[in-house]
Amino acid sequence: MRKKIVAGNWKMNCDLSEMELLLTGLKQDLPKSIRTKVMVAPSFTNLYQAFRSLRESNIEVVAQNMHQKEEGAFTGEISANMLKSVGVNTVILGHSERRTIFHESDELLAEKAKTALRNEMKIIFCIGEELSDRKQNSQFEVVKSQLTKGLFHFEKSDWEEFILAYEPVWAIGTGETATPAQAQEMHAFIRNLISQKYGETLANKIPILYGGSVKPNNAVEIFAQPDVDGGLIGGAALKADEFTAIILSAENSMDGKRII
Ligand code: PEP
Repeated sequence: MRKKIVAGNWKMNCDLSEMELLLTGLKQDLPKSIRTKVMVAPSFTNLYQAFRSLRESNIEVVAQNMHQKEEGAFTGEISANMLKSVGVNTVILGHSERRTIFHESDELLAEKAKTALRNEMKIIFCIGEELSDRKQNSQFEVVKSQLTKGLFHFEKSDWEEFILAYEPVWAIGTGETATPAQAQEMHAFIRNLISQKYGETLANKIPILYGGSVKPNNAVEIFAQPDVDGGLIGGAALKADEFTAIILSAENSMDGKRII
């Protein structure tokens, strides 16, 4: 079994004091000796304070987005170097809200991924189909296309830096979760695509997180699926007790298993 990862995406929530409260709760609730890799993604304005607050903890601070260019006249944008200068070494790219609301294309995301790699950053790369795709049974085609256009031109060695997040758009923030079987089916499909392109050894190493209305009451079953390596959590990551419960579900799913 691969080591579990649980990442909280706080989106455009939490001002500075609300984040401090959340971080205090998390640091209190989470056992120190946890094997699960825990990440949180605050807004840009809170990144540095989060980094400082979590320096002594085993919680990593990641960014929700970044610009594809290194620097220049791009008013309102944040570069990879800026993120690195405040202690952030991982960025979420391709979240469905970025794809849909901000019209980020597969090509743009490929460019962002290239910039992140050039800056020695890790990437949580999100893929997932819309409800209309699933209704037409084209979810596999959509996910394959996102993966192919976004990441399949990278070298095998670049994949060391990738974490994938399968997030069916119809399950994000809706309270409707993919069933554990639906999640497993897609994760196995994704792993198989990676295996065909880069070989089985790499495919077996790549973490694939599930995202979409993961809550304390469904996390256990989802994380028990063999190809689900943890979760990308939205709403439930905003409450310290719920996020902790989800992390502990990931932690418990590793009990008695050999971690590769
Ligand atoms: C997300 O935004 O990545 C997400 C999974 O949100 P939620 O958990 O709220 O569905």
